[in-house]
Amino acid sequence: MSGVLPDRQFAEKKGVIRFVNARIVTPQGVIENGICEAIDGWIVSVSPSGGENGEEAGGAYSGSGQGQAASGGIADSAQRDAADIAAAADSAQRHAESGSSAVKAAKAGTPSGSSAVDAGNVRVIDAHGGWLLPGFVDIHVHGGMGEDFMDAGKPGVLETIAKFHGSHGSTSMLATTMTATRDMIDGVLEAVWAYRSKGEMPGASIEGVHLEGPFISPQWPGAQNPEHISEPRTDWLEDWEARFPGLIRQLTLAPEREGALETIAWLRANGITAALGHTDASYEEVLAAVEAGLNHAVHTFNAMTPLHHRKPGTAGAVLGCDGIVAEVIADGIHVHPGAVKLLAKVKTDGNLVLVTDAMSAAGLGDGDYFLGDLPVVVKDGVALTQGGALAGSRLTMAEGFRFLIGQVGLSVERASDAASGAPARQAGIYETTGSIQPGKRADFVLMDAALELRGVWAEGRKIG
Ligand SMILES: [Zn+2]
Repeated sequence: MSGVLPDRQFAEKKGVIRFVNARIVTPQGVIENGICEAIDGWIVSVSPSGGENGEEAGGAYSGSGQGQAASGGIADSAQRDAADIAAAADSAQRHAESGSSAVKAAKAGTPSGSSAVDAGNVRVIDAHGGWLLPGFVDIHVHGGMGEDFMDAGKPGVLETIAKFHGSHGSTSMLATTMTATRDMIDGVLEAVWAYRSKGEMPGASIEGVHLEGPFISPQWPGAQNPEHISEPRTDWLEDWEARFPGLIRQLTLAPEREGALETIAWLRANGITAALGHTDASYEEVLAAVEAGLNHAVHTFNAMTPLHHRKPGTAGAVLGCDGIVAEVIADGIHVHPGAVKLLAKVKTDGNLVLVTDAMSAAGLGDGDYFLGDLPVVVKDGVALTQGGALAGSRLTMAEGFRFLIGQVGLSVERASDAASGAPARQAGIYETTGSIQPGKRADFVLMDAALELRGVWAEGRKIG
């Protein structure tokens, strides 16, 4: 990164949360009947059930992992975090006794779903054998509950979108812009920068911005306004990066456009994901872009040249190149489950990413909406532009996650990496979120055995 984002102030102490009786999904595998403890918004221990006395609470992943997880990235805050976590671990020890009685109380609790018992400063949540997953990270999302990130400057818009998606499992997101004029994009960057500088965010944390366009192909606008399509302008990006260092985390462009390869190299040199999308690129043009640093594909199969056995196109190159991390909209509308399955069979190395590409209609019923400045009609749950193009989705991360498991056949662990780990790595935030490990933020999704959402926590705050 060429800079750091404004540091966040923590307004309040969030106390101790202890999940018990959970199937905890970690990068090392699933811990059955696990315990996970977080203090003041940070994970301090993850371990198998320690029986009645909590002896093993210091086992498997607690303690020693902290330094590793907190190292790298932003040096100042990493040091502060390491100190916080050490203090938190002490405090966890002190709470161990009161905790164990709370665990017993919780186990005797409700017959289904999750239950919580407050015991002083310790909040114990019995998962009843359900899944404790890292919070979802949505790196491609335009809006929800009637609001669009293109209107980020209007009061309440960012809060509304972050709260809506937060309540459906997203604990981090990248505010995604549409193909728009330089001034319009400028306004969004300014608003998100100001929002992040303000302090603690409600709902999902808006970690940065994904610019979808405007350097895309006029042949594949999808629901992007063709009037605002531009040739790649690295000078715009340089200006934005200078004014809002680290804010832009991803740019989607058509790699076949003149000047695109230079832009891709500039993006990667500045720690920004270089994504192809809305592109007419041939197989060979994509390979050349990968040479230049291209490392991501947005909504694979949508708005790109399709796979043909004598002309593999953009889709063929995305499938074939391990270096391209592939997004997919897993709503059963944008891509057939069979094609998602094929994608998942080749993207087995942590390079499959679930996105919603949700637009303002997410969370609302059929009706008339806008995506950026284009009118969109939602009928029977499908969003279309006036020209008949698919216009974003009404998907939430929780629904997409379930789809990957139920319709595509992925394991919970793989679906979790696609929904949390892989997008966090691409967005450059894996040091703080994207997996359940000591030293990371207390970002959790709790689901029962049927994968129904039972709770969402961001930095230890309950947001869903
Ligand atoms: Zn999009």
